[in-house]
Order: sequence, then C-alpha cells, then structure tokens
Amino acid sequence: MSQTAADRVLNVHPSRGSLLGEEEAAAVIEVLRSDAPLSMGPVREEFEHAFARHVGAAHALTVTSGTVALEFAIRLLDLRAGDEVVVTPQTYHATAQPLLATGATVRFCDVAPDSLNMDPDVLETLVNERTKAVILVHYGGNPADMDRIAAIAAAHGALVVEDCAHALGAEYRGRRPGSLADLSCFSFQASKNITTLGEGGMVCTPSAELARRIDRIRSNAVDGSFTPAVLREAPAALPWMAYSAYAYEEDCTALRGSGTNAALSEVACAVGLVQLGRLPEFVARRRAIAAELDDVCRRFGAVPLTAAAGSVHPYHLYTALVPGEGRRDRVLDALDRTGTPAQLRYHPVHLLPEWRLRGHREGECPVAERLWFGEHLNLPCHPALTDAQVELVCANLGAALSGQDFTAHREKEPSCP
Ligand SMILES: *Cc1c(COP(=O)(O)O)cnc(C)c1O
Repeated sequence: MSQTAADRVLNVHPSRGSLLGEEEAAAVIEVLRSDAPLSMGPVREEFEHAFARHVGAAHALTVTSGTVALEFAIRLLDLRAGDEVVVTPQTYHATAQPLLATGATVRFCDVAPDSLNMDPDVLETLVNERTKAVILVHYGGNPADMDRIAAIAAAHGALVVEDCAHALGAEYRGRRPGSLADLSCFSFQASKNITTLGEGGMVCTPSAELARRIDRIRSNAVDGSFTPAVLREAPAALPWMAYSAYAYEEDCTALRGSGTNAALSEVACAVGLVQLGRLPEFVARRRAIAAELDDVCRRFGAVPLTAAAGSVHPYHLYTALVPGEGRRDRVLDALDRTGTPAQLRYHPVHLLPEWRLRGHREGECPVAERLWFGEHLNLPCHPALTDAQVELVCANLGAALSGQDFTAHREKEPSCP
C-alpha cells in the first residue's frame, strides 16, 4: 500500500470513526427518489427488526441519540425520592446524567481493574432493598460481567440498564449486549461502531409494556396508564375523525409524564440498515488494529485491557494501562508531541462538578480514580485508519513507551478538519 500525505496525518477527526461509502449514499438516494414517507415509514421498521434480530432482543425502538435512549430508560424506572440507583463511574457522563433530574440517591460502583467495567464484588456491597436499578456500561465495548450483575440485581428486585453505546458487535457467552438487560441503550453517533448519518440511537427491551411506553414517549404521546374506552361516536361535523386516532380509543387513568418527539428519519434508518450489514467488517478491522496495539503494549510493559473468556471485544475504545510512577503522563506527552491522538476516556463521572455538587467525593471509587488519573490510556483504533496510519501509531507508541527521542517521528502535516 503506497503512502499518501493523508496517511501520515494521524489526527483523523474523532467524529469520523465510522466509515460511510457508496452503499450508504445509494440507500439515501433511494429514499429521496421514492415516494415513500420520510418519517415513521417502513425503513424504520425494517431497521428495528433487523437490529432486534442481530442483538437477540424482543423489541428494538429507534430514537434520535444514545443520550435520548438513556433518558427514556431512566424515565421508565419511575424513580422516586428514597429510591437508590447504582451506576458505574467509568463512562461517558450521559450514562448517569438523566439521574440528576430524579429524586433518587445515586451510588457509584467502583470498577474492576482488568476491564474498567462495574465490579460485581463492589456491587454486592451497594445494593439493598431500596435499590431500583443498576446502570452499567460495557466499557469500550468489552462486555461487563452480566451474569453476576443480573443475579445481584434480581436478588434485590432491581432492573438492569446496559449502556451499549460502545458494544454493538460484542458477544457475551453466546449472547449479545442489547439482550442482556431490562433496558439496553445504543448510540449511532458518528464515532460509534455504526452510524445513522452522524446521530441516532436505539432502545432494546424484552418487555412488551416497556416497549409500548417507549413508543408512546418518542411519538409525542403522553406516558401514562390507559384502559380501553368505549368507542365514541365521532361528531357528525368531523366525519374524518370517525376512524380511530388512538388518542381517542383509551382513557388515561394515571399520568406519569409527557411525551416528546424522538423519531429517527427514514433516511437515517436506511443508512443504519446498510451499516448494520457492514458491522462484521468494521469489527474485524477494529480487532485487527487492536491486536497490533496489543503487541506493542506488551513488548514495552503496558497492559492492554482484553476480553474475558467467552466474550468478543469490538474495540470501540482501545485501552491500555501504563503502570509506573508518572510514566503514563510521560507517554501521553510523548504521543502528543508526535501528533498521535491518545485520549483519556472518561473522567470519573462521580468527580464531575454536577456530582460533586451532590456530595460525591474523591475516594468513593478508588480503582476508577487511581487508574484514570495514573495509568489509563486510550489509543486510536477505528476502521477509518489506514494501514500506514496504524503503522505510524504503533511506531510512535513503541517509541513513547520505551522513552526514546520522539522528535524524529514528528508529523509535518497539518491535522484534519
Ligand atoms: C456516545 C455515548 C453516549 C451518548 O450517545 P449519543 O448518541 O452521542 O447521545 C452514551 N453513553 C456512552 C458510553 C457513549 O459512548
């Protein structure tokens, strides 16, 4: 493969982690050229069915983002003051943010050092009869210990919400994230494992009742309890109302909240369908890059986070730990000087300002804190990287970990958009 100037630019914009090509463009044009609806049409249904089949979920409902998926999931928990929720601190802050608007008490559960996923041993110490839900992420896509977490939650009558924003393409003991919890939330934002034109999301659930509530909320219908009403006669002056608008078929007996509009467009869903078909190709590429990064890390004394036996890791994030006093920071600095876009995902959530305001403090999750502030390193690992770029990342990583002089590898090119 010949190297172009672009191959030498490592700073590929992080929002272009997904690959879009001719197939996606053709899918968009097909919808535009047809007379089919642009909203709530057959493509959305097809995408939802294909997605449900893929992850093994009974119900899959598209929404406009992963954040909205999590907002809906947390709304469906019907939390009240005095209820408790256990959540992981090592995640993007959208996992926990909707909890700020509830009256629930939030307990952050420390992570396991070999995965950065919620540690079931710690979870055991945090659950009690007030625990209504356990909310976790499959960190980087690497499946959390769901059998143990689900058993602990079930023993306390708590629901499990899995944030699967990283985990499309993962496997856990023969099953897939999206089928491992009461509510599963996916993101199709541009950097995720597949994208629906830059923004999008999905909620999966085994529960017909929860699916019905999500469908109502996303379609601007109120969230309440309903009983079938005796069909009313339409006023004679408005004969077109004689056919059944669902709003008139039922009586509202209890109102839980308002609805909103979170429908995903037909064009976005058409792209989602194509991307879902290409997922194996994307995951294979991510895993091949990860294997190369693993080699370099091991050669120079860094510790890659890998999947447990029985799991498949799709490497939405590639993560290694760099032990040694101050060493991670020196490696970060060296990578930065070569233009290699290393990252630290994510600042422990319980120490973000909004959670400090609620009284959360250092020391609450010692493992998450020690690793993120001292050892944690995320390296570029997505299918938009060329072979030459991967080679360059590996060379710069090897040099950074071995403490060599990095200026020789410094990029000359300006960075991408
Ligand atoms: C991206 C992400 C979200 C939010 O998804 P959006 O589609 O960007 O709103 C939530 N949780 C995690 C872990 C994410 O990575």
